[in-house]
Amino acid sequence: MKRAATGSLLGLALGDALGYPTEFDDVPSILAKCGPWREMELPKRALITDDTQMTLALARGLRTAMDRGLLGPKRFERPLREEFVDWYQSPENNRAPGNTCLQACYLLMGGKPWEQASQVHSKGCGANMRVAPIGLVPGLSDEQRAGVAQLQSALTHGHPTALAASDLTAHAVRLLAEGVEPTGLVGLLRSYAYENRETYHERWLGELWKRGGAATPGAFIAQGWDECLDVLERLKDALRSPSPETDPCLATGAGWIAEEALATGLLCFLMFVDEPVTALRRAACTSGDSDSIACLAGAFAGAHLGAAAWPAEWTARIEHGDELRAFGTLWDS
Ligand SMILES: [Mg+2]
Repeated sequence: MKRAATGSLLGLALGDALGYPTEFDDVPSILAKCGPWREMELPKRALITDDTQMTLALARGLRTAMDRGLLGPKRFERPLREEFVDWYQSPENNRAPGNTCLQACYLLMGGKPWEQASQVHSKGCGANMRVAPIGLVPGLSDEQRAGVAQLQSALTHGHPTALAASDLTAHAVRLLAEGVEPTGLVGLLRSYAYENRETYHERWLGELWKRGGAATPGAFIAQGWDECLDVLERLKDALRSPSPETDPCLATGAGWIAEEALATGLLCFLMFVDEPVTALRRAACTSGDSDSIACLAGAFAGAHLGAAAWPAEWTARIEHGDELRAFGTLWDS
């Protein structure tokens, strides 16, 4: 029993906490502050940021919805909205939260329909940095998993690339948790993107596409999948001759936007498949959105290797570790 859900949830939180102090620094400043990147230590107070806070909000919303019965868009949206608004108002929400989430959650708090709260021009990484639970929770059909991954994005980030990258990130976590070989992962993700290129999940997304300015629902979502396919191409090239000592953001992007966070998180994981802690350290020592990149690298590594991936002295002091472990236990059983 590798306990993929536990490993993935703890991994994402550890990456988040390791990358928190370095999020807004370039690589030379990080090296000056933290020393050699391969020896980076988890801070004594291992604080998580909005990445893990919103992952937990999503996990709670998902659990509430699934406890109530068959998962559908209405049943999912209500508790998720409540969790996002709770996060917005939480005193712990002081860890450099993203603007898109703040704006959308403010509108959700005021009771706006989610279709209107959704920031349709934003493809920030805020929706896929939190999506891992959807790849880990058992009992969803493929249609439900894709719909839920995209709808949870749409509550804040309604850009088609944010929707597609969230779906793809959840799919990657799912494949790794199920035991897919990491060497075949990028090919499987490209196939998934091609297969779903013109699939607009209307049951989940309603008329969101009309706010995006595309001619048809299929054309709206295809734009998102095409941007994901472009970045997967860059990732494939980067993996042909990996360069572990170079800032990964130079190959696949700084990760402030959704498809780049996915690709650079995957790059860090795939360069160090059997060294999960090194993968986290590489991801935290990047010029871009270090906490989100490391959060995703940790989610992938943990889904692949399970709970044993992480040092006990790190998992013992990660903030909200008990709740992360509780969700892991629930979904691993
Ligand atoms: Mg953050």
